This record gives sequence, structure tokens and C-alpha cells, in this order.
Amino acid sequence: MKQLRRRTLFVLFFALALLAGTVLLCARYFIHGREWASSGVNQAAYAGGALSSGALYDRNGLLLYDCATKTYADTASMRTATLHLIGDQQGNIATGAKRRFARQLVSYNPITGLSAEGNKVYLSVDATLNQLAYEALDGRKGTVALYDYTTGDVLCMVSSPSYDPTNADQIEAVAEGNSRYEGAYVNRFLSALYTPGSTFKLVTAAAAIETLGREVDSFSFHCTGSYEIRGETVTCPSAHGDLDFAGALANSCNGAFAALALELGGDALEQYAQSAGLLEGVEVSGMTSAAGRFDVASPGSLNLGWSGVGQYHDQVNPASMLTLMGCIARGGSAPTPRLLTRVTSQSGVPAALVSRSESAIGWDKSTCEALKTLMRNNVTEVYGQSRFGELAVCAKSGTAEVGGGLSPHAWFVGFLDEPTHPYAFVVVVENGGGGSSVAGGIAAQLLRAACGEDEK
Ligand SMILES: [Zn+2]
Repeated sequence: MKQLRRRTLFVLFFALALLAGTVLLCARYFIHGREWASSGVNQAAYAGGALSSGALYDRNGLLLYDCATKTYADTASMRTATLHLIGDQQGNIATGAKRRFARQLVSYNPITGLSAEGNKVYLSVDATLNQLAYEALDGRKGTVALYDYTTGDVLCMVSSPSYDPTNADQIEAVAEGNSRYEGAYVNRFLSALYTPGSTFKLVTAAAAIETLGREVDSFSFHCTGSYEIRGETVTCPSAHGDLDFAGALANSCNGAFAALALELGGDALEQYAQSAGLLEGVEVSGMTSAAGRFDVASPGSLNLGWSGVGQYHDQVNPASMLTLMGCIARGGSAPTPRLLTRVTSQSGVPAALVSRSESAIGWDKSTCEALKTLMRNNVTEVYGQSRFGELAVCAKSGTAEVGGGLSPHAWFVGFLDEPTHPYAFVVVVENGGGGSSVAGGIAAQLLRAACGEDEK
């Protein structure tokens, strides 16, 4: 009898263990099934190491890449302009959507399993804007991006140099390190760091507005073209004369901002670079951009002066700068830029949820409002409104000295203060020259196209 009871308990124990194991397996299957299905070791979803189902489209439904046939967009110029968005065949471009969004491309359902056709993945980018921006860069290295700061949708993201991923000669030239294609595998929008130059004056201005308060209203500076710090000089391209705070920003007076930097101190500037989100990367659809850099120079030093002007060791990533522009436009917080907008089955049924997240800077709403007014003033007073048509552009230019006898990097960043066209933008042209003239010209072309101004 005793032996029978022991045997019963033994059988019962095994039955329970089996049940627990089954429940655990089912739970893991439902939680991780999609991940397993899109994993590179699943032969059903991959052929020759590449994902073999699903397709990538732009926001208007233009086919950019078909995974089954491994075909890109129809024209060489479109393939080149969307390469960093989509990715290359060899897998050298780590930020490409065909690799990053493999989970969304694979059509998987826990009940029916894998489907052969895969999903339709719609990216936020308008490919025709990408094409326009890449052509506007005209062979120069750099990046151009534009996003809707009310939805987070990145409508344009290009990185130059790029190449046609179906052109064997170009693929070979890139692989051999031809200087024309230097850094072609890098998506400069997400991965590059640049000296920000005068675009950083927005950070110094925010620190001045919040720290010096009313003193900014009575700020005045007389620029002679050079500002002395301990016997060394911070120079301006020309003597700006008498300036108030708005005039100092609009004319981008290095002397005035070096003086402000000395007054504010390095710790305060670092704190504002941090609260602007420039010292950490921003997560764009699961990809974290490069973190920027700000080194605190010693009090009263020339380096401290230059650090407030966006020179010295200052380094900024374009995606973080774009997010900052969206946040200023929206009064302190805005949706984080994203590249993925919609995933459907082949018949158009929603197939996966697309997440949205919010970015926030640590600046007061009133500070953002003040910056918006100042940035609008920059355009109307100095950069020129006419090239932007009727668009209410708020902007800051930057001409970042990079040393080594090279031309400076040209920057132009900002946003539209328009409810119907809530766009923020960033343009960087490496060694391009003047920020307002060179990068500003590309921004004007892009904004007019994005808002349909050219058709009017
Ligand atoms: Zn000056």
C-alpha cells in the first residue's frame, strides 16, 4: 500500500512537471515567436543570408526594396538617395531598414506561423524629398534631415557620400576606399559628430536667458571684430558694432557669445548642453545616435569663450540637433524622430504596432518661446526671408571652423513656425563654407519642396 502511494506521487510529480514545461514553452512561443521567426538562423525566412520576405516602401507607397527579389528602387538616383535608409546588400550599412526592421518585415502569426510573402513596411521618409536633398548636396559630404515635430515622422534623411547599391563599379570603389566615397557606409545623420560652430549659440543663449534672466533684456555689446581674453582674441569675420541680445545672435557675434560664456561659466554651459539632449544619443526607431561632447574649460580662459561659440572641443550629432529643434518649436518636448510608420500584411491589414516616444529638453517653455522669436528674427533680419517664400522659418546658421587648412562645415538648423507644416530640419555640409549661404540654400530648397511652395 505504502509502495503504491509512493508510485502515485511519483507519477503525479512527473505529470505536473510536464504540464509546467508545456505552459512555459507556450508562453515563450507567444512572447518570442516573432523574434525566432525573423532570426537569421531561420532558413524559412532567409535565403543566402538575406531576408527573403517582405518589402519596404516610402510614406507614399513607393517601393524602395523587395526582400524576395532583392530589388531596390527603379532609378539609380533614388537608390543612391535612399541607400542609408534601406541598407546595402553586403550588410556594411548598419542602420539600414532591411536589417533593422527584419522583425516587422517577416509576416508571423503565432497560430498560422510564417507567411511566404512577408509584410509591407512603410517608412516615414518621402523618397522624392530624399532625392531632392541628395542632389542639393551636389557631391559634397554631409547630411540633410527634416521631420514633423508633431508626429515624429522623419520625412527626409540623407547621408552623403552614398552610392548605387546595384552598381558593381561603385560597390568596388567604396570597398577599395576611393576617397570620393569616404565614409559611405556611415549614416552621418545618426552616427556622425561635428563641431557645431554657431548653432551651439542657441545653447549658450538658452543658458543666458534662464541664468541671467532680466539682464538679457539690457544686454549690450560693442564688437570691434576681436574680443580679448587674457591677451588672446576671439575673432569675428567683421566688426559688428553695437549689438543687443537679438542682434548678437542674428549676426552670430563670436565676441558677444564668448563674453556670455565667460559670465555663465563652463559648468552652466555643460549643464545646458546636457539639458538640450546634445550630450546623449537620441533613439530613432531603435537606433541610438552618437552622443555629443562638451568639455568644461577653465574659468576666464580663451577656451571657455570658444566653447560657448560652438568651437573648442564641442561635438554634436545631427539627429540630436534635429530633436532639439523640434523640442524648441513645441515649447520643450516633441515626439522623437522615427523612421517606421506602418506595418501591414500584403492585403493591407495592420500587422504590427509601431511605437512612438517623446523627447523633452530641460528648458522652460518661456525660454523656448524666446528662442523661437530670436530664431525668426535671425531669418528676417540677417539670413533673408525671400529664399523661403512665405514660410515662417526660424533658424540658426553655423560656420564651424575645423582647422587643418580645410573649409569650415556649413550648418543650418531650425524649424517652421507653421501649424500646417510643422517641420524641423538640419543641414550639414562638410567643409562647405558659409552656414547661411551654403547650408541655408539647401534648407530653403528642401523646405519649399516639403511644403509644396514651388508648385504655387
Ligand atoms: Zn562680432
